[in-house]
Parts: sequence; structure tokens; C-alpha cells
Amino acid sequence: MPGPKKYPSNKTIAKEVVKTLESLYPETPIPLQHEDAYTLLIAVLLSAQCTDERVNKVTPLLFAKANNPTDMIKLDVKEIESIIRPCGLSPRKSQAISELSKILLEKHNGQVPESFEALEELPGVGHKTASVVMSQAFGHPAFPVDTHIHRLAWRWQLSEAKNVEQTERDLKSLFSKKLWNKLHLQIIFFGREYCSARQHNPYSCPICSRYGHPELFEQEDAKSSKKNKK
Ligand code: SF4
Repeated sequence: MPGPKKYPSNKTIAKEVVKTLESLYPETPIPLQHEDAYTLLIAVLLSAQCTDERVNKVTPLLFAKANNPTDMIKLDVKEIESIIRPCGLSPRKSQAISELSKILLEKHNGQVPESFEALEELPGVGHKTASVVMSQAFGHPAFPVDTHIHRLAWRWQLSEAKNVEQTERDLKSLFSKKLWNKLHLQIIFFGREYCSARQHNPYSCPICSRYGHPELFEQEDAKSSKKNKK
């Protein structure tokens, strides 16, 4: 079976991607449960290499003990570590949670700073975490790109970039600023629903069937001819 015959420009694909995602996910509730900017920051930090589902099971236990920097620094790092262990990387994450809470109290009046620069200075907070907080806690336009979004941008022929930084630049230039925050969540929801190994099929996928990278179809064809030979 051939893939799509002729591909439009990535600007046109971008418009179509927005239309499709908007029809599939008109609402974009924030997946990580939180009460305010501080609890969101902690939840995003915990979500590194962990599912949102698992983070949402762990954070109520942690926030019942400490949902603000003042209470958090009263907890022993070992205690934080034992609560957040199911999220993985718990020694590093617990250390970061404790240290960043101290810095928030010392430098920012106990508040989460509303700036990329100040956020990225906090331990355990990289550009992606800072972007999620800026967008979801404060409503600033940001386009957090992780490896999943990076991969999808290539599959949808929106970017040929080799790293997440470049993909972020490409996506920001393709999509209007006012769409960034919602689009980031819509792409995450789409990836979760369609791009799992089980369901992945570029011929039946609502986006890849029309705009998928030619290599996706070559891979799919190679897979099915292997199966047919068996
Ligand atoms: S074909 Fe696969 S990779 Fe492409 S969007 Fe669909 S599910 Fe995701």
C-alpha cells in the first residue's frame, strides 16, 4: 500500500494538524493534579521518566505532609525520598525538591518565580519543566518539547531537527503563539492515544495517514512483508 502521494508544505500540515487535534481534543485539562504553582512545579519535576498517572498517585501523599516550601524543608530528604520512590530517580528528585524549596524561601519569598531564567536556576528544573510551569501555572506562551513531541514533529514532517531544542524552535515558528499552550497538551493526548506500539499504524492513523513521513510507511511495509513471509 503506498503512503500519501504528495505532501503539502509544513505550514499547510501545521494548519491541518491544528484542525485535527482541535476536533479530537477540544478540551485540554492539565494532566498533573496540583493546587498552585508550587505543587505543579513539584509534580512536573516528579514526572521526569515517570507517567502522569503514577505522579498523580504519589503527589497527594507528599502534599498531605507538605504542599508549600516552608513545610517541605521541615521534611527529612529521606522521608521525601520514601514517599516519591514509585516515581523513580527518587534520591535525585527528593534532593532537588528539598533544595529548590529552600531557594524559593531564601530568594523568592516562598513563591515560584514567574520567569524562565529564575525557574531554570532551580535544582532539578530544566527548560522543559520551566516551560510547563510558565505555560500551565502562569499562562505564558511556551512550547515544552520532550522526546515524544520531538519524535511526533518528525513523523508529521513538521521538523527535521535532530534535537529537542531545534524542534522547539521549528514548532514555535510554525504555530501561532496563542496556540502553543493548548497544542502542547493536545499533542501529548494524541501521542498517548494513538502512538502506543500496539495501535501505531500510519495507514489508519488520523494524522500520519495524510502527512506521515515517508519513512514511516517504508517501515510499516517492511514489517508487513516480513509477516507475510512467515
Ligand atoms: S502513525 Fe503512529 S506515529 Fe504516526 S501519529 Fe499515528 S500512531 Fe503516531
